[in-house]
Amino acid sequence: MKPKVFQAYSRKNIDKIPQLQKLSKDHLTAIKAVSSVLPFRVNNYVLEELIDWNRVPEDPMFQLTIPQPGMLTDEDLYSVADLIQRGEPDQTVMAQARRIQMKLNPHPAGQMELNVPVEQGDRIQGIQHKYKETVLFFPGQGQTCHAYCTYCFRWAQFVGIDDLKFASREAEVLVDYLRKHPEVTDVLFTGGDPMIMKTRLLRRYIEPLLEADLPHLQTIRIGTKAPAYWPFRFVTDRDADDLMLLFEEVIKRGKHLALMAHFSHPRELETPAAQAAIKRIRGTGAVVRCQAPLIRNVNDSSAVWNRMWGEQVKLGAIPYYMFVERDTGPKHYFEVPLHRAFEIFSDAYRAISGVARTVRGPSMSATPGKVLVDGIAEIGGQKVFVLKFIQGRDPEWVNRVFFAEYDEKAAWLDQLRPAFGEDRFFFEKQLADIKSQKTPQAEGSLSAFEPMPLEPVAS
Ligand SMILES: *Cc1c(COP(=O)(O)O)cnc(C)c1O
Ligand code: SF4
Repeated sequence: MKPKVFQAYSRKNIDKIPQLQKLSKDHLTAIKAVSSVLPFRVNNYVLEELIDWNRVPEDPMFQLTIPQPGMLTDEDLYSVADLIQRGEPDQTVMAQARRIQMKLNPHPAGQMELNVPVEQGDRIQGIQHKYKETVLFFPGQGQTCHAYCTYCFRWAQFVGIDDLKFASREAEVLVDYLRKHPEVTDVLFTGGDPMIMKTRLLRRYIEPLLEADLPHLQTIRIGTKAPAYWPFRFVTDRDADDLMLLFEEVIKRGKHLALMAHFSHPRELETPAAQAAIKRIRGTGAVVRCQAPLIRNVNDSSAVWNRMWGEQVKLGAIPYYMFVERDTGPKHYFEVPLHRAFEIFSDAYRAISGVARTVRGPSMSATPGKVLVDGIAEIGGQKVFVLKFIQGRDPEWVNRVFFAEYDEKAAWLDQLRPAFGEDRFFFEKQLADIKSQKTPQAEGSLSAFEPMPLEPVAS
C-alpha cells in the first residue's frame, strides 16, 4: 500500500480545504462560524476517502467530521457568521465564539471529583478509576485526535477552555497505582486518541507496565479512532512496523491487548487502508473490539449498524458497544430518543448472526454506571423501559435490572422516572452516599445522574 502523508486542517487553514471551496459562500461561512465555536480538525484521508462529496450535506461522514450549521441555534450562528462576513478581526469573532461556548455545557458539573482517585489527599492526575476492574489512563500527549468527531463530548479539551486535560507523563504513577490496586485487571489508555502518539512515546507508557511485576494486570486496552481516521498509522507510517512490534511484545508478555476501536459508520471499515490496518493489528495477536455512539444524522438507522457489525465480523473484529450520545455540546443535533435507540439496536441485532451479537447496547455511561436499555415492556398494564446495569459504580449493581416509566421523549437516564410509583431508583440513595463521601463540597450541586463527559464513549 502506498504511504499517505498526513495533512491536518483546522479552522486556521480551512480555506485550504479544496473540497469546501466548492460549497456555496453562505454554507462555507456557516461552517467557519461553527468551527469557531466547536472544535474542528480533519485530515486528507477523511476528506479524500471517507466523505462522499456528491452527497453533501447529508453524507454521514461529512456530518461526522465537518461542523454543521444546525449545531448552533440560528441566533448564535448568525451572530458569528455576521462578524465573519463583515470581515471583523479574528479576535472579535473568537470573543463571540467563546461566549457561545460557555453556554454549551462542556463539562456538566462535578463529574471529575467522582472518578479521579485521591490518595493521601492528592488527586492522581491522568487516572480515572470508576469501575473496580478497569483503570483509565490519559497519557499527557495523547489528548488530541487525527480528526474530530462533531459530536465529541471532550471538546472542552480541544478548544482550550480550561486545563482539564488529564496529563500524566509518568507511567510510574500508573504503575504505583496498579501496585496498590490488585483488584484492577484492565488498563485502558484513552484520550483524545493515544494512537496520535509516535510509537517511541507510546512505548514509554506501555513498557513499564510490562516490566513491572503486575500479575493481576491481564488486559491492556487502547481506545482509538485511528483505524477509522488514519489507518496508515498501522500500515505505512514510518513507525507503523515498530508499533506492530510493540503490540507483539505485549502479547509475548502474556497480556491481552485490545484495541477498542471507534467506528461510527461502515464506510470507515470499507477502505483498503482500514482493512489493511485491522488485518495487521490482528496479525500481532491483538483483538479489535468496536464501539460507537448512536448519532442522529450519522448512523441512526438499523441498516447502518447491521452493515457495520457485519463488516466488523468479516474483518475479524468484535462488535462491543453501541452507546447513547451524552449530554454535552450540540446534543440537540445528534440526540436520538431512548425508545428509538432501542428500536434501531434491536432491528440491527435481530438481523445478524450470533457471532455479531457480542455487541451490547444501547448503553448510557451515566453517573451510577453503564445502563443498558434492555427492553420496552408492558407490566401490569404499565409501559416501561427495562434497564440493566452492565457496569456499576458499586459492583453489586452489575447485571441488575430496574424499571422506568416509558417516555417517548427521554434521551438520557436523568430524564427517566421510576416505574410502578416508586419515588426513586434502587441505587439512588447509595449513589448519593458515595457522592457525599467523595465530594462533600459538591453536595447539592450534583443531580443524581450527572453524565460523565470524561469517560471513553469512544476512544
Ligand atoms: C466503559 C468504561 C470502562 C470499561 O467498561 P467495560 O464494560 O469493561 O468495557 C471503564 N471505565 C469507565 C469510566 C467506562 O466508562
Ligand atoms: S469522539 Fe473520540 S475520536 Fe472523536 S474527537 Fe472525540 S476523542 Fe477524538
